[in-house]
Amino acid sequence: MGLRRSAAIICAGLLLTLLGACETTTSGGSVGADRRQLMLVSSQELDQVAAQGYAKLLSEAAGKGVLNRDAAMLKRVRAIAARITPQTRAFRADAPDWKWEVNIISGNELNAFCMPGGKIMFYSGLISQLKLTDNEIAVVMGHEIAHALREHSREQVSQAIAAQTAIGLGAALFGLGEGTAGLANAGYEALIATRFSRNDESEADRIGLELTARAGYDPRAGVTLWQKMINASQGGRPPEFLSSHPAEASRVQQIQTLLPVVMPLYESARR
Ligand SMILES: [Zn+2]
Repeated sequence: MGLRRSAAIICAGLLLTLLGACETTTSGGSVGADRRQLMLVSSQELDQVAAQGYAKLLSEAAGKGVLNRDAAMLKRVRAIAARITPQTRAFRADAPDWKWEVNIISGNELNAFCMPGGKIMFYSGLISQLKLTDNEIAVVMGHEIAHALREHSREQVSQAIAAQTAIGLGAALFGLGEGTAGLANAGYEALIATRFSRNDESEADRIGLELTARAGYDPRAGVTLWQKMINASQGGRPPEFLSSHPAEASRVQQIQTLLPVVMPLYESARR
């Protein structure tokens, strides 16, 4: 009984800790995105790990001679970022002042991501092979930036820590030794190759589309972008981007449903 009672107390304590760690990273914007999230590590901790990972990626790419080789493409992508990043204010007051960085790695990979804290990477293949327009690049960028604004990676790391803690607690109670949990164990992978949940993807689509529209890029490009993605996934080799971003007809439908909400933002940004 003693063990069971102390286990109950520990569980209650853990539950309180978890409840206390729930927060929302952004305000809802026009599209409404203010779900509460479990967060067990700080933004500062994760941003630091991300900045180190990004620097490593840049130096490796530079070493292979594949970093920012296409000056025109780099100028184009950075110009789009310069219009979108100030619009992050609609969701987070702190975000426009993040240390945003945008770089391009040359290669056939069809990929793009934004690491925590605003470290953006495009792979040239995504732009050149899918012949992305500026509006479509803006939709990809808005979507990736939205993952960073909502801190989906921090949420995933936190969930991994919570799972490890629960396993560790069970193991300790049954005399199996201590479980370990920590940011390092929870996965550097989570920062680059995150497989976001369906809910994360839906949030990123919604927030991203609003960012795109507020920056004066046509949000209808979301429809043509995902149609290109769906077509690319039906070819021989599915794009890397799609391993973390499944191309589904339902995404196109959600974007079409949101267009009446974001088109007025696009129209007023163009005035
Ligand atoms: Zn995504």
